[in-house]
Amino acid sequence: MCTCAVLSVAFLALKGSAKNWKLRGEIHRQMAQVPEQRLNSLTRLTNAMSVDVEDFFQTEAMAKTVPRSSWDGIPSRVQRNTEQLFELFDAHGVRATFFFRGWVAERFPGLVRAAKDLGHEIACHSYWHRPVYTLSPSEFREDTKRAKSVIEDAAGVQIYGYRAPSFSLVSGTEWAAEILAETGFTYDSSVHPIMHDLYDNRNAPRHPHQLGETLLLEIPISTVRLGEKNMPFSGGGYFRIFPSAYVHWAMRRINRVEKRPAVFYIHPWELDPGQPRLATSRRSRFRHYTGIGKTAKNLGRLLKIFSFAPICEAFSNEPGTLGFGTEHTGTRQIRDDARLPSVASQV
Ligand SMILES: [Zn+2]
Repeated sequence: MCTCAVLSVAFLALKGSAKNWKLRGEIHRQMAQVPEQRLNSLTRLTNAMSVDVEDFFQTEAMAKTVPRSSWDGIPSRVQRNTEQLFELFDAHGVRATFFFRGWVAERFPGLVRAAKDLGHEIACHSYWHRPVYTLSPSEFREDTKRAKSVIEDAAGVQIYGYRAPSFSLVSGTEWAAEILAETGFTYDSSVHPIMHDLYDNRNAPRHPHQLGETLLLEIPISTVRLGEKNMPFSGGGYFRIFPSAYVHWAMRRINRVEKRPAVFYIHPWELDPGQPRLATSRRSRFRHYTGIGKTAKNLGRLLKIFSFAPICEAFSNEPGTLGFGTEHTGTRQIRDDARLPSVASQV
């Protein structure tokens, strides 16, 4: 079943090309090569685990159904769902980067503090979760400053990482990097270099690179290259919809063939099959609810097979990956003084 599923994913990306058969054969061979129980010892790189902390009714898929003005009136599940992630990570000895929404941090400061006390990296996922391309520079600056302030107040530490709502740092929002840098952020992890109806970034660089003229490092969400396309696999709906065998194969390919850490992302509500079902469009229901009953089990399996750490640690230990000294990123070389802070420096 696993092989068929992986091949069907490859089909979606590669249909029609003569070389597809070769690539599909390659996927098949790689999957058959290594029994799962041996993957841990063979996968030497530490990947980046990240969490976008938001409630079940706050996603872009639900934006039309649940307006922001109604959020305060809806019983929240973000605390218990995030605590479930704390427990799952703890069971596997994993620390992660938690990108908190300012809205959540303001209402649940104890949750931010708990994440900090458990050794996780604290970072920012905006305040209102409005796509960057819908905002003016001054609106983005105001939202970002507000979010950073409430998250830092809750955590009691300075934060350095930013993730845009719905991976919305797309072409035309280059000004946002300047604002993030001037606001005190050191890195951004907002680019998912795929084709998507909400954030088309298919031509963005797949690997860490410097954003514009700033010292800001962009650490994209991982994709796997199949033919001429970047294929998603590394979290969210893709993790719930695609077969686990494909996700594991793709992550192993990033680690072993590209020799880079992968960046994975998850949301607390994705571990909550008991959340109220909201009346929204068929597409939104598909994106939000598919596979939600097995996320916790599949995430536990992923944590067992692969090594993970917060973004700042997974990448600060891989200077070649960040391009220090030797690597060209497709744009230009990253400056020597553009380095990620450690979790320990979040004091
Ligand atoms: Zn989000």
